[in-house]
Amino acid sequence: MDIEQQPVSAIRGVGPRVAAKLERLGLRTVQDVLFHLPFRYQDRTRLTPIGSLQAGSEAMFCGKIELADVVYRGRRNLLCRVADGSGSILLRFFHFTSAQHDSLRRGAQLRCFGEVRSGPAGLEIVHPEYELLPDGSLPQPESRLTPVYPVTEGVHQLSLRRIIAEALDTRLQSIREWLPDETLAMLQLPTLKEAVDYVHRPPPQAAVGLLMQGLHPAQQRLAFEELLAHCLSLRKLRERIRRHDAPLIDADGKLFEALLARLPFQLTAAQNRVIAEITNDLRCAQPMQRLVQGDVGSGKTLVAAAAALHAVEGGWQVAIMAPTELLAEQHWRNLREWLAPMEIEVAWLAGRHGARTRRSMAELVASGQAPVVVGTHALFQRDIEFRRLGLVVVDEQHRFGVHQRLMLREKGAMDGRLPHQLIMTATPIPRTLAQSVYADLDVSVIDELPAGRHPVETVVVPDSRRDAVVRRVHSACLEHRQAYWVCPLIDESDALQLQTATATETALRQALPELRIRLVHGRMKPAEKEQVMDEFKSGATDLLVATTVIEVGVDVPNASLMIIENAERLGLSQLHQLRGRVGRGTVASSCVLMYRAPLSAAARERLAAMRSTNDGFEIARKDLEMRGPGEVLGTRQAGEQQFHIADLVRDQSALPQVEQVATLLLERYPQHVMPIVQRWLGVRDSYAAV
Ligand code: ADP
Ligand code: MG
Repeated sequence: MDIEQQPVSAIRGVGPRVAAKLERLGLRTVQDVLFHLPFRYQDRTRLTPIGSLQAGSEAMFCGKIELADVVYRGRRNLLCRVADGSGSILLRFFHFTSAQHDSLRRGAQLRCFGEVRSGPAGLEIVHPEYELLPDGSLPQPESRLTPVYPVTEGVHQLSLRRIIAEALDTRLQSIREWLPDETLAMLQLPTLKEAVDYVHRPPPQAAVGLLMQGLHPAQQRLAFEELLAHCLSLRKLRERIRRHDAPLIDADGKLFEALLARLPFQLTAAQNRVIAEITNDLRCAQPMQRLVQGDVGSGKTLVAAAAALHAVEGGWQVAIMAPTELLAEQHWRNLREWLAPMEIEVAWLAGRHGARTRRSMAELVASGQAPVVVGTHALFQRDIEFRRLGLVVVDEQHRFGVHQRLMLREKGAMDGRLPHQLIMTATPIPRTLAQSVYADLDVSVIDELPAGRHPVETVVVPDSRRDAVVRRVHSACLEHRQAYWVCPLIDESDALQLQTATATETALRQALPELRIRLVHGRMKPAEKEQVMDEFKSGATDLLVATTVIEVGVDVPNASLMIIENAERLGLSQLHQLRGRVGRGTVASSCVLMYRAPLSAAARERLAAMRSTNDGFEIARKDLEMRGPGEVLGTRQAGEQQFHIADLVRDQSALPQVEQVATLLLERYPQHVMPIVQRWLGVRDSYAAV
């Protein structure tokens, strides 16, 4: 039997009980075991002199116990001071048996491994792995790097290492190569079998530095194939969608022209280009699958409106989906205002609507009386029937993963016909990366901001200078500018002791009695929230104190000052989104990032990046570099799969070749495609399998 089908229980030493545990790691077949790759290594090949140990790194060292003592610090601690002539370090045990206590005596020789940290009295290690050395024996480091595998409850490193070693000994030769010879020749990387063996059991002479960074050719060989598998899976998905029909929507753009004629500004060249790309797609009888990337404030809403009006003019309905109620409502208001003169009804489906309202809204949608309907994802969860759905617009999609995209698409299907789908995102990522993360989509970029925008001037200040910041708000509001004061969390009791929005509002009211100050936060009733936002929009409020509910999409052009508290706690993309709420009008805007000292190195770097650029592409690049794509693109929250060995940022330079090889396989070796996808994505790849 092929290792692709052979169950894990075919490996010696794996019985039904172990097999069930391996299943929890997603390991069902022998091939799954062979491709369960280490995500990092421990370096026990060198002994470090204790005097050279550094906090934050893992190391192995030897020494003699100089002092062993049990102390009480709230609970019992066993502390051993170990020295080797170059320096000393403390071993700390919170749990220990009396046998352990006895053996860790003064004068005993130890070999230890663990993560060094700085404790109250210098460097220490909590619960190191250790080994007592017989008197007079010389400590031996290990000859190879130690692989560290993803594990789960009930499956330990050691048993996993043993099972994998057994599989390597007996089944390595059964691994099948699916890459064509021409590709292998081009890549100039080790063969698959060599690579698999190497990463599990790096030989003694292996280049430790390269392996630790994931840059060894064996790792690159595997990462290449993994990226290829993801790319193929998305391309298959794309193909599958292409096989469906979609409404061919033709229109000559009269409605949108009428809207433009009433706006006080011209479209940017980038908006025009992207609108043309979209309307071209809508004129095809295949489902559009287009992603529009554009920085905060680049005018994506208007592009969405252009697409919507094209569909409406062609006689189709449009559903517009936003990630939050606040944003859905804002879209509804904008669109209603824009479309009312053309007598186009815009329905709004909110979670808060009572049964009556909801029924009448649903009625408007079902009868086709409302050509446009706005809402959150509740749009598709409720029992809403569309009369003639032709286009789905998803705003700020970075919160949705591939699976959600797919589900949405299928919910809108009608008589086997799929609606067109347009996705808007304010998390722009570099082109090559976009092509592989969004290989199932066409990508358009709005790479230009409306004319006359001034970059937001950004300053970073410690919260010890709060008084000066309050004075700044005061003078801005006296000049009839409006301001946001953003507080990341709301609960007074929150353990992180963040400044709370309510407490801040009270304090600001006291400090600035002549200003009109209101508070908006996520736990308010929607009607209340709406009223507060309305007042701010109309200019009846000077200062809006808010939690991060205002992060996405809120648009009040007259607001030109933003204060963000505890800015050190927020991620780069989130800070950029927040800052994007100002700088929308014609006056110069500024943003004050307040932090509480001391700053971590990462926080310092984030704040410096915010100060140095306003460019969303630049910010996204930095964010990717610092946090990795799973976090930045929200695929982690969306429960999307992570990579075993590839790293989209580190391995970016391979992406053009990955694309090229994917095309080659799909065209010339179609029977190799599914085996590669299944090897890397396995049973989790529900979308490619269908
Ligand atoms: P985002 O891309 O962040 O969703 P919006 O669509 O909310 O941006 O647009 C931001 C602001 O810019 C809105 O007030 C919008 O009316 C305005 N706007 C859009 N396009 C233009 C343009 N071409 N010229 C001037 N202002 C524009
Ligand atoms: Mg927007």
